[in-house]
Amino acid sequence: MPTASNVSEIGLEVYPPPDKRVRPKVPLVAAKTVVRKATGSLFETYTAGVAARVSREALRHNVDELTAFNTRHTRSALIGAVAALVQDRFRQLGYSDIFVHDYVRDNLMLSNVVCTKKGESISNEPLLICAHYDSRMENLEDAAALAPGADDNASGVAVLLEAARVLACEVLIRDVQFVAFSGEEQGYWGSTAYAEHLKAGGIRLRGLLNLDQIGYPPQDRSITVERDIGNQIADNDVASEQFAQILAQAAANHTTLPVRFGPIYGSDYMPFEARGYVVAGTYANGNNPNYHSTRDTTETLDLDYMVEVTRLVVASVLHETSPLARLLSVREVASTYLYKVPPLSIRTDIYSGIDPQQRTLKERLREIIAAGP
Ligand SMILES: [Zn+2]
Repeated sequence: MPTASNVSEIGLEVYPPPDKRVRPKVPLVAAKTVVRKATGSLFETYTAGVAARVSREALRHNVDELTAFNTRHTRSALIGAVAALVQDRFRQLGYSDIFVHDYVRDNLMLSNVVCTKKGESISNEPLLICAHYDSRMENLEDAAALAPGADDNASGVAVLLEAARVLACEVLIRDVQFVAFSGEEQGYWGSTAYAEHLKAGGIRLRGLLNLDQIGYPPQDRSITVERDIGNQIADNDVASEQFAQILAQAAANHTTLPVRFGPIYGSDYMPFEARGYVVAGTYANGNNPNYHSTRDTTETLDLDYMVEVTRLVVASVLHETSPLARLLSVREVASTYLYKVPPLSIRTDIYSGIDPQQRTLKERLREIIAAGP
């Protein structure tokens, strides 16, 4: 456990508890500029191969494990066990760089879980993918009531973990940080502390993609890509819009999801935006009637939709971080298909072992990256 001397809450701004039902007055717009690309480019073929690994069963498993806790309320006695579960999951995927970012808020010692997949390049601004693992009931003060939070936000954490699984053995040139926050429902406690931690360390980000409530689609089964329009800092808006276009294009190329663009609001990207970071989000925007209630359970989620959202996340991560996006020949792309993801099997050994073959291939890719464009 951390001591009060190595964690601090001094200087952190206060946000009210978020409510996704209260939208800012920015109209939702359908994506018009996105055109389905002709398939067959080397990078898109490679990306399709990785995206095809996304497993509905793994997503269900992840949601089931998270919703099995009576509550994931940040003030509950269970919150530490939830953080431990998320850490275990990353470790079982073969990741070793797992950092538990402890912080104090309201006299509580709390944790964010940060799993870093190292990139091969020396100049490195990580791409951060995040989701909050806490849940709540109608009454935010009730830390003991049943609060399964399947859509809000086991769905986001499930997709975070599944993206981490299918990307586990890919060689990337840029770091990817998979981050699970606590304290979102109280007003972005964990994300505020972590944004401050990065800012204080002078750590820049390539961008941040937030995953919140992506299991209950609207009727048109669209995904809302949330981007930064105004808010605290003005000069990160253009880059956010560009990032949103990349997400929309990834959706067009690798999913069946129509894209709508909406504003960022009511989730963990806000404290990062306030520090100048470039942020975007995915949100189903399905007006989930089970929001913050005991009815927010696994059975109400659309797992096929979550598969598509995970593919969108994976394709976007590869677009931003893969050397294959620029460098590789047909032969080299073909060789990447020999990579193995951690195999799937149900329950206890769901994520075990990595094929030793991938180590040799990894070495080859390192050489290609070292040789440059
Ligand atoms: Zn949420």
